[in-house]
Amino acid sequence: MTISDGSAPLSAEDIARFGPDPLAVLQANLAAVEQRIASACARSGRDRASVRLLPITKTVPAHILRYAHEAGLTCFGENKIQEASSKHGELADLAIDWSIVGHLQTNKVKYLTRFAREFQALDSLRIAEALDQRLAREGRTLDVFVQVNTSGEASKFGLHPDALLPFVDALDRFPRLVPRGLMTLALFSVDMAKVRSCFVLLRALRDQAIERHPGVSGLSMGMTGDFETAIEEGATVVRIGQAIFGQRPTPDSHYWPGAEAPS
Ligand SMILES: *Cc1c(COP(=O)(O)O)cnc(C)c1O
Repeated sequence: MTISDGSAPLSAEDIARFGPDPLAVLQANLAAVEQRIASACARSGRDRASVRLLPITKTVPAHILRYAHEAGLTCFGENKIQEASSKHGELADLAIDWSIVGHLQTNKVKYLTRFAREFQALDSLRIAEALDQRLAREGRTLDVFVQVNTSGEASKFGLHPDALLPFVDALDRFPRLVPRGLMTLALFSVDMAKVRSCFVLLRALRDQAIERHPGVSGLSMGMTGDFETAIEEGATVVRIGQAIFGQRPTPDSHYWPGAEAPS
């Protein structure tokens, strides 16, 4: 079994994870996710076009992402910069917008600005300054979402809610950054009332920020386990990995240090 463009054949590992026909699997998963997004929009009186699906592709190999592109996806979100950067290189022949949704270290800034269109995990002015300098050198801008810790868990990145407004004000100093909205990871819990309160908080913060910064209108919230609730609470971007690409082989603690099993 080979990909239509003549790329590498599927390995046994690929087949175990994505089946012998990854394109069909991804198309079916996407259709199901699309349906769920549409229903959540309908029941909350929202226009489907007001919600952007950002597929999260971490751990999915680049050659499998070719099928995702064939299935119609043109933007991919990654948590870690090295993984994103190498996939960007492998898929350079495809028109894809890359988004980085995970914590960034200052020494990785130069890799991000080379190829990413959007950074959704901004939570430090040091990183903002480093990004701005690098972008100025490259003569380009970057869309950013400011990450807020709405769950109060020590393991989560993001600003304390009280620190958000001064932080957004301070971003005015960095003309190469284009603040588009706020981002959060809700509490990992089966108690949906607690999860929902994280989304409600992010929305309230957005409503305050937008008064002084009209561009800060976006709400990136909701993942595989909670995206319908997020849409009900106003999400404009949902970041969905496993509902499209299947379960990941890596535990979430790899991405969120200290993450524990849902409580
Ligand atoms: C992995 C990841 C997601 C998607 O999680 P799923 O459970 O696979 O939908 C969303 N946001 C961030 C920041 C992630 O790292």
